[in-house]
Amino acid sequence: MKRRPLIAGNWKMNKTPRETEEFIERLLPLTGAFSGCDILLIPSHTSLDRAGRLLASSRVSLGAQDMHFEGSGAYTGATSAGMLTACGCQFVLVGHSERRHLFLDSDETVNWKLHASLADGLRPILCVGETLDQRRAGRMESILANQLDCGLKDVDEAALTHVVIAYEPVWAIGTGETATPKQAQEAVAFLRTWIETRFSKRVSEAMRILYGGSVKPENARSLQAQPDIDGALIGGAALDPDSFAQIITEAMSSQGDSDSC
Ligand code: PEP
Repeated sequence: MKRRPLIAGNWKMNKTPRETEEFIERLLPLTGAFSGCDILLIPSHTSLDRAGRLLASSRVSLGAQDMHFEGSGAYTGATSAGMLTACGCQFVLVGHSERRHLFLDSDETVNWKLHASLADGLRPILCVGETLDQRRAGRMESILANQLDCGLKDVDEAALTHVVIAYEPVWAIGTGETATPKQAQEAVAFLRTWIETRFSKRVSEAMRILYGGSVKPENARSLQAQPDIDGALIGGAALDPDSFAQIITEAMSSQGDSDSC
């Protein structure tokens, strides 16, 4: 089954609303050439409203980096799914490794966020990935399986069709060290098989699974050429519109490549 690639830029704690506007003004004229994939920008919360207005009539989607699982209430500093959709968001990251490791998001709260996002019509991008120590100890598969098991707890097959998964090995995020195409393909294939075993072949074949971790213009093509990789979640290299557009160009040029390991 051919899945439509999704190329997403996660800006983390970067860019003011004005800088967001400048980025979007430079990116939009380039996006006409990218009809073969979906493009997603994930700015910080303070830029979402402005980005939502600027992207409203474009083919670039908007996502948020995190959300709270409650709809409203006394949660100082938090943002609900309803607030994100009101800004024009269609997607939200849940369980990004920086949220898990720096802000102590647990598997349980990741699951609650995933359910709350679906309930409000957002598409969650569930991020999973192992640390270097876990990989070296031969625990990659059990870590990924556990993150899926917990993150997708009580999600039914109909809801799962709205979920995107991002495989982001922790050792590759923001380090400049990218997983090789072979390593990324192996992990993503494992995730797809897990989905097939737990749910169905139909949903596993339709599920978009992204790779994230130091994706740049130089490696985007060989990663995207892997049969189970359906796009990229990009941090640092998505902060510049030309670099982001170059990654999309490279990734899309891989369609048709069979093996670039
Ligand atoms: C990320 O933020 O999800 C990410 C993969 O960052 P980077 O591309 O900088 O490694």
